[in-house]
Amino acid sequence: MTTAWIPGPQQLQEAYRQVTGRIAEAATRSGRRPEDVLLVAVTKTASPDQIRLLAEMGHVDFAENRVQQLEKRAPALTEFLSRKKSLGSTSTREVGPLGACAEYVRWHMIGQLHRNKAKSVTQLVKLIHSVDSLRLAEELHALGSRMTEPIQVLIQVNASGELSKGGVVIPAVMHLADQIATMVNLRPRGLMTMAPYSDNPEESRHCFARTAEVFEEIRTARIGGGDFNILSMGMSNDFEVAIQEGANLVRVGRALFGDEEYL
Ligand SMILES: *Cc1c(COP(=O)(O)O)cnc(C)c1O
Repeated sequence: MTTAWIPGPQQLQEAYRQVTGRIAEAATRSGRRPEDVLLVAVTKTASPDQIRLLAEMGHVDFAENRVQQLEKRAPALTEFLSRKKSLGSTSTREVGPLGACAEYVRWHMIGQLHRNKAKSVTQLVKLIHSVDSLRLAEELHALGSRMTEPIQVLIQVNASGELSKGGVVIPAVMHLADQIATMVNLRPRGLMTMAPYSDNPEESRHCFARTAEVFEEIRTARIGGGDFNILSMGMSNDFEVAIQEGANLVRVGRALFGDEEYL
């Protein structure tokens, strides 16, 4: 290990500019518009200051993989933004990357979710990326009956066959999507996958391509209707390859915030 890289405010702005630039380029190269790919900032290595700064720059989408961190960070950021607003320091300009301060943020849950923690998560996030079993889906469906809107979920796909990785194996994905589509309190929005870590992004391509293939099959079968339209793939080391393979949501942490785990 080399010494940790912990970007300060200037470096975070520069890192953000670089990452969004690379996303835009990858999107354009694969015939899509930059705004067709959503950047979700993964905050597991971020400090509270870094998270606030990104929101002040207009960034809206944040993700956590640990429930405990989510329970601390989501309310803290909401409070920060409402304090800013009440002080009149939020401009009325439209929300946008590097524009005005975000008026609101959306949290995403991307880590493994235990059923006993599901309730708290449903109250804090806009999208759960990590539904990996029928039992978890059923638990969320039960919780959703007490909510005003269906809970939006992605099915996590294990496209590598690596046992240590979470997710549903490829041959079972379509069936789970079909089952979730019958649950009125859930809205299946798409798929999420993680490729095994490698320094070479090309090694992720096969996993992304396989997941994109199942995604298209489910869409062709009209499961989930037009709402099944999110393909969440790609992290700091491989988001460009993921975009080439069809990702329209990338989850980037270390390339923005550095690689020191924040505890
Ligand atoms: C940590 C994490 C990410 C972000 O990974 P980086 O390498 O920091 O970009 C994305 N998705 C999931 C599910 C994660 O746990």
